[in-house]
Parts: sequence; structure tokens; C-alpha cells
Amino acid sequence: MASMDSVKVAVRVRPFNQQEKNSGSRCVISMQSGTTTAIQDPKNPEHIKMFTFDLAYWSHSGFQRDNDGVLISTGSNSKFAGQKDVFRGLGQGVLDSAWQGYNATLLAYGQTGSGKSYSMIGYRADKGIIPNVCEELFKAIENKEKNQQYQVTFSMLEIYNEQVRDLLSKTKKPGGLKVREDQHQGFYVDDLTSVPCDSYAQIERLMEQGIKARTTAATSMNATSSRSHMVITIQFKQVFLDGDLTKQSIINLVDLAGSERQKSSASEGDRLREGSRVNLSLTTLGNVISALADVTMGKRVLHIPYRDSVLTRLLQSALGGNSKTIMIATISPADICYEETLSTLRYAERAK
Ligand code: ADP
Repeated sequence: MASMDSVKVAVRVRPFNQQEKNSGSRCVISMQSGTTTAIQDPKNPEHIKMFTFDLAYWSHSGFQRDNDGVLISTGSNSKFAGQKDVFRGLGQGVLDSAWQGYNATLLAYGQTGSGKSYSMIGYRADKGIIPNVCEELFKAIENKEKNQQYQVTFSMLEIYNEQVRDLLSKTKKPGGLKVREDQHQGFYVDDLTSVPCDSYAQIERLMEQGIKARTTAATSMNATSSRSHMVITIQFKQVFLDGDLTKQSIINLVDLAGSERQKSSASEGDRLREGSRVNLSLTTLGNVISALADVTMGKRVLHIPYRDSVLTRLLQSALGGNSKTIMIATISPADICYEETLSTLRYAERAK
């Protein structure tokens, strides 16, 4: 039986971007009490929908009006949340699970440009959840008793069009790497580079290499990296030398493909196939997490459709059961993104 809080959902609104500011967009999002997110229909301002999640992260400080008096940031009693706040709210729980020997998966979901990469990776000193998790893991290891040994391995892949690509390998496998199934291990990627790491600096370098590979691949395929899912997996093993005991944990940190629907004009041939496959894994993921949330609520669930997409196959061992699942849904505050934001909030709601 999964623990009651095995699926945790947070929403984070980013600040206005320049384009939204230039076009005089209005803010349609407000947040209350650190948990409630309200969204207003720009065509029908009386129409406000409320969503309650475990956490709601705000990015603005109070009201702001532009020169024309257009409201560009509505009031909210939620405090501004920086990268460290988000790490403490979401990333720390992942680390706690890992130390206890449980698996964890943290996913960022939202339309392209809503802040998934910012939240997961961040920029240099403004570190996102992944660098913070890795840095804190090594800090904690350094402070531990010496009668224990620790092993950390790092891998990084992307799933594009239901094909797996190793982001840490120079050799390209046509058709992608094979996903295989093992009785004990569950699903795994054949031939995936998995690097033993003994410092945060080493992980930082690997991440840089992987992110570069993701962008380069997208450019050469005439696509954007927003159409692929990026999965970082950290395997963490603790060996207690005096008691012969080991604890093992898998941490998956996932920057999902943009959730926006494909525009029909671009949906021809390859693009159409790509769009439907991206949506297949996001839809399957939504179905899996929603089924897991039902299990948590004590509902009888006959089937969890892990097998229906490559992404959910790879995440299976760290989604459900005793694993901790955390989703951060990222959204824009602007009226022009209303439809996509509403669909992101609805997707996140299914996880509850
Ligand atoms: P996505 O990964 O969802 O496509 P990004 O993370 O690249 O989106 O974010 C788009 C832009 O918005 C980036 O320039 C990023 O720095 C900025 N941004 C996103 N979220 C925040 C935030 N919470 N605070 C400040 N800037 C943000």
C-alpha cells in the first residue's frame, strides 16, 4: 500500500516574459495560502476556476500596472518563491526518500516557455531542482559517518518520437537504444552510459555535456528540444560496512516535452507523427499518475498502463508503490496562454 502522500503536486507560475509585457497581456492567475491557484477566463472575467494543490509557487511581488493601466500582476497572498524555496518544497523530499532507500521521480510538466527547464535545471548561480538535489546529496555524504560507503551513478537520456538517445554518449545508435525488461530490474535501457560520480562538480560537467547534446540533436533534426523528454537518473547506493546492509534508491528527474497541442498547420508528415507520439507519452503518464493517485486514495485500480509508452516503462520502478512521485506544473501568468494553462492545471489535478 502506497503511503498517503506518495503523489505530491505543485504549481509554479513564472513572471511575465518580454513578449507578454510588450503585448500588454493581463494576468489571469492568482494564488492564495500557498496551495490554491485561481485562473480567470479572459473572455468571461466572472468565470474563475480554482485548483488546490500541495503547493503553489508565486513569482511576483504584489500589484503592478503598466503605462496604460493594464493590470499585469494580480494580487496574491502567496509569497514570492525562488529556486531555493522550490528545492526545499520538492527536492528535499526526493533526497529524504533516497536516504531511506526509496525511489523517487520528480517531473516538470507544462507548455514550452512556462519554466520547466528553469525549475529543473536553472541557470548558473540560479540553480534549479536537479543541481540542488545533486549538490545537497554530496554535501550530506561528506558529513556522514565513515563506516558507510556510498555509490552514486549518473545517466542522462532523452526520449524523442518514442526512441531513446543517450545524452552522454558520442556514438549515435540509429533507431535509438533498446528498452529491455528484466525480471528483477524491470525495464532498463540497454547500453546506456552510467557514470560513477564522487563529486557534485563531476555531475555539473556531465549535465552540461548532456544539455548540449540535447540541443545539438534537436537542431540537426530540425526540431526543438521542447519536443523531447529528458530523463536524468541517479542511482544511489548506501553500504553499511558493519552490518552488511545496503540501501538502494533510484531518483528520476524529468524535464518533460512541452505539453502544448500541435498546431494543425505544422502537423504534417513527420511533425504530425512527432506530435502524436509526444502526446502519447504525456497522456500515458497522466493515466499512470492518475491511477497511482487512485491507489493512494484506497480506490481499487485494476491496471496501471506503464507499458503504453517508453517514458512510463522507464519510470515504472520509481513510480508507484513505495516510491515518491512529485510533479511540478509550470504555467504562464498571461491571458494569451489561458487555454494551455487551464489544460496544464487540469492535467495536474488528475494526479491528485
Ligand atoms: P520551458 O522549459 O518550459 O520551455 P524555460 O524554463 O526555458 O521554459 O523558461 C522560459 C523563460 O522564462 C526562460 O527565459 C526562463 O529563464 C524564464 N523563467 C521561467 N520560469 C521562471 C521563474 N520562475 N522565474 C524567473 N524566470 C523564469
